[in-house]
Amino acid sequence: MEKNKLQVTFLGAAGTVTGSKYLIENQDQRILVDCGLFQGLKELRNLNWQNPPIDVATIDAIVLTHGHLDHCGYLPRLVKLGFKGMIYGSAATVEIAKIIIADSAKIQEEDAERANQHGYSKHEIAKPLYTLDDVAKTLPLFQNAPLEKWVQVADDFEVRFQLNGHILGSTFIEVKVNDQVLVFSGDIGQEKDVMLRVPLKPKQADYLFIESTYGDRLHQKQDTLAYLEEKINSTIEKGGTIIIPAFAVERAQVLMYYLYQLKMQNRLPEVPLIMDSPMATDMVHLFQKFHDFHQLSHQECAAIFSTFKMVGDHGASKKVVASDVPKIVVAASGMATGGRVLSYLAKYIGDENSTILLVGFQAEGTRGRQMLDGCHEVKMYGKFFKVRAEIGSITGLSAHGDQSDLLNWVNELQEAPKKVFIVHGERQASDAFRVKLMDQYHWNIEIPSLYQTVVLD
Ligand SMILES: [Zn+2]
Repeated sequence: MEKNKLQVTFLGAAGTVTGSKYLIENQDQRILVDCGLFQGLKELRNLNWQNPPIDVATIDAIVLTHGHLDHCGYLPRLVKLGFKGMIYGSAATVEIAKIIIADSAKIQEEDAERANQHGYSKHEIAKPLYTLDDVAKTLPLFQNAPLEKWVQVADDFEVRFQLNGHILGSTFIEVKVNDQVLVFSGDIGQEKDVMLRVPLKPKQADYLFIESTYGDRLHQKQDTLAYLEEKINSTIEKGGTIIIPAFAVERAQVLMYYLYQLKMQNRLPEVPLIMDSPMATDMVHLFQKFHDFHQLSHQECAAIFSTFKMVGDHGASKKVVASDVPKIVVAASGMATGGRVLSYLAKYIGDENSTILLVGFQAEGTRGRQMLDGCHEVKMYGKFFKVRAEIGSITGLSAHGDQSDLLNWVNELQEAPKKVFIVHGERQASDAFRVKLMDQYHWNIEIPSLYQTVVLD
């Protein structure tokens, strides 16, 4: 590469919301911003099996915006392929990422085993993308990075992490290289969140890489407490159960916060409140450990989390599923792509008295999206299940900012970026956001495609 040349390659989350991976290279070094797994549509998931078009052993370091699977879930695969550098993130991000990749390896090992046993894999022998052994080799590479301080991650690369209000520990990342500042938004939270701190904003960006998950819409204004109260009470009156598939990290905790509020205000029927997700329980501990990253007090945390029966091992989970007592269950995964929520859905999705409440973004190709779109049946464990339960959507709890939050997030930039790249969105969302951003700021904007390389000068 020519001297002083800089380039970025979009190895994921370009034209889609998952698989975030941005490779930044100058003449001597290369770092990766995020290292996420592709999720959702099969054609996307298949990309996880396609090795990145570079020698991964030459990547000097990885920096993580946050601990969600679609931002860190490819790490063990990259280590398996030869990556040996350090992986930097905020202290909470590092803890969350460790939990997420271990869980992901376990699910992949179990899925492969089940597919092989029941013969419903289309491949000859189903294999996991990576195993718990690969995770064990990844863990020593993690390094906590301080917030709001420049950190040198390679000779030519300095980075700075600042909270952006999406999940516990989530940040946007500024990268200083070759006298340029590149800003990667990560996933931007809503301006107001009941638990997290207000998102910080960038002041300077020569090049801006901004997400656009909700770039084409505004969140519906919903009185979340009233909505939950109505759905829960009407379901329990019919003798049904409420199943809430929730992201263990961390809409599950926000839901716990809201359900706790309803309980305190005597607006809930006397039924068990159940949290069936070991990972969500781990997250509860992280909220108690990392008080600097959110706005709840020790007492509030303890009171909220003790309102729930936390289900432990698989045996305990099976008992709760088997019981016919009406209840409110929060379980992962949030888009019903896997996890314990599937065994509850298998039991209750065909029950017209029960209700399934979806929370937040449901990506294309996921069961959550199918339910939201009104599909009459859903496939789980290799079988079709008729959808008879009521399907609801809690719209006010998104971990993502909407179009106006995204537009406001860039309003403290003192000068126009040389170029803005809109990433991390389905095509329609990215394009609608491009039009609004152009209209409001008149910047030079591009929507890159997957595996595209752009030269920055
Ligand atoms: Zn995220």
